[in-house]
Amino acid sequence: DGANDAQPRPSATAPVAARSDEPLVRAVNVMKSFGKHEVLKGIDLDVHPGEVVVLLGPSGSGKTTFLRCINQLETIDGGRIWVDGDLMGYADKGGQLHRLTDRKIAAQRREIGMVFQRFNLFPHMTALENVMEAPVQVKGVGKAEAKAEAERLLERVGLGDKTKHYPSQLSGGQQQRVAIARALAMQPKLMLFDEPTSALDPELVGEVLAVMKELAKDGMTMVVVTHEMSFARDVADRVVFMDAGVVVETGAPRDVINNPQHERTRSFLSRIR
Ligand code: ADP
Repeated sequence: DGANDAQPRPSATAPVAARSDEPLVRAVNVMKSFGKHEVLKGIDLDVHPGEVVVLLGPSGSGKTTFLRCINQLETIDGGRIWVDGDLMGYADKGGQLHRLTDRKIAAQRREIGMVFQRFNLFPHMTALENVMEAPVQVKGVGKAEAKAEAERLLERVGLGDKTKHYPSQLSGGQQQRVAIARALAMQPKLMLFDEPTSALDPELVGEVLAVMKELAKDGMTMVVVTHEMSFARDVADRVVFMDAGVVVETGAPRDVINNPQHERTRSFLSRIR
């Protein structure tokens, strides 16, 4: 084990072969168990720079776990994940851990923005302070520079007039947009979204999706777990349908959503529509 740690070149037969660039994320045969429970059973996925990939699938199919593996919040116990050419930590067949140094893990995480279902803003900080926090504390950016950038980012997510508001003074949709601005403040090369709108009142979902759509249009590489079919249809370059820890089917949104090839996909889509 370990001999195959060089990132494999894109295969000529892969569906993404039309793109010549290297993938930003390459997951090969990723496995993850919690105790005896095999949650991921060999996930393959390439995400190319600028691509928006939507992960669909029933609750419990492993979508969140997979995102957490990409971000090294979980260590995988089979397969490999590369992010921007760097091999992420993994356990080999003998259970031996091959971890990056803490420093390298921290460096990788800084470059991957994650937005959760719950916004997790610091309640005692204003919107502006929330967005400034990581650049100042983690990256050592000067306060004036961080403030100017935070103002720009809050403007970008439509909250230029709410910079001095505390989370409790903002709606769920506004808080989630602050959370997106906060992730962007670290200038991530990849953004992971885990059901970013599922905790929101229905009338607030649109404003968050609109911000994500803009982000996609600006070329951000994104992996998004969502049940919002309109977002998948309009924004995703590719959708990946997962069930019970495997990728059942993947393709262009119009193909997978309008013309699913597998019974499991059809059944899932009929339930959420
Ligand atoms: P999804 O995001 O598709 O709903 P998850 O990745 O959250 O799926 O969960 C997949 C399965 O893994 C579930 O059965 C869940 O209970 C289990 N699981 C997730 N995290 C843990 C954990 N830390 N410990 C034990 N089981 C977990």
